[in-house]
Amino acid sequence: MSYVDTKYLNLISPMLPLFKKKGDNLWNFRCPYCGDSQKSRSKARGFVFRKKNDLFFKCHNCAVGASLGNLIKYVDSRTYNDYILERYRKGIETKSSPQPEFKFNAPVFKKNVFKSLQSISSLASTHPARRLVGERKLSKYSHDLFLCPSFYKFTNTLIPNKFPSLGGDHPRLMIPFRDEKGEIFAYQGRAFGSETPKYITIKLDEDADKIFGLDRVDKSKPILVVEGPLDSLFLDNCVAMAGADFNNFEGDLTIVFDNEPRNKEICKQIEKNISQGRKIVIWPDTVKEKDINDMILAGYSKKSIQQIITDNTFQTASASLRFAEWRKINA
Ligand SMILES: [Zn+2]
Repeated sequence: MSYVDTKYLNLISPMLPLFKKKGDNLWNFRCPYCGDSQKSRSKARGFVFRKKNDLFFKCHNCAVGASLGNLIKYVDSRTYNDYILERYRKGIETKSSPQPEFKFNAPVFKKNVFKSLQSISSLASTHPARRLVGERKLSKYSHDLFLCPSFYKFTNTLIPNKFPSLGGDHPRLMIPFRDEKGEIFAYQGRAFGSETPKYITIKLDEDADKIFGLDRVDKSKPILVVEGPLDSLFLDNCVAMAGADFNNFEGDLTIVFDNEPRNKEICKQIEKNISQGRKIVIWPDTVKEKDINDMILAGYSKKSIQQIITDNTFQTASASLRFAEWRKINA
């Protein structure tokens, strides 16, 4: 590692709130990409750490990863120009893209990736994790939901250094993403408490689309696509996309977004899907719940939810019209 790296990290440090050196090759500060927590001024989840001979940035909150160069460029482009020049003078090859460093070797593909974890159904009925699953009416699926006592530590056993620091590690509910053969290629950890983000998705195969339910879906039939893996469990032939992109996933798809007209990100996704000609569901104004799990908790039956979905599926021009109306009424 070059002293130029540490020199420039220190140069930009005044622009990184709560900047602290935590160890030999570990620094911590508030993430400049997501701003870290808006609520808590003391949260700092951005880390710079050493991997082989270079320094990298990773945020535990928004999961952004970058080479040190790209972090400097993002924070202060003028300092970045100096940094590039100085590295060049020192004869160090500069890297323009942060991508290659974050490709993690070969995909981890194992049936028993979760073998060290306890399934929720195996826990005592008084266990808080099992109680939470019961309260969300998910008991039926608890044999394939797991308890992970230390999410960061567990993840690091599969992807070395995914979380460079174990500070703030905590338990999470583990939701395995299985492929057609039942093998786990990704997983989502849901916080039990107020830890943020509420869901963290980890891909063991970098190239796979983050689609939950591939082991259960019948592609020859119409398929519902929802946002949350847990929501998808309540509906027939339903998958969840834990990320906006599912371009390699084909079939007779109906996209069911959460009922959140004030969520800009969701509105953007709806617009994009309408323009792509996809069938989408826009919830009627009588539905107040924000997602399918909440509807179940509010007393809707699976059958009634599926009927509402059928009755409120739109495409092309009618979708655009209904979307505009839905946004306006709820604005
Ligand atoms: Zn961040």
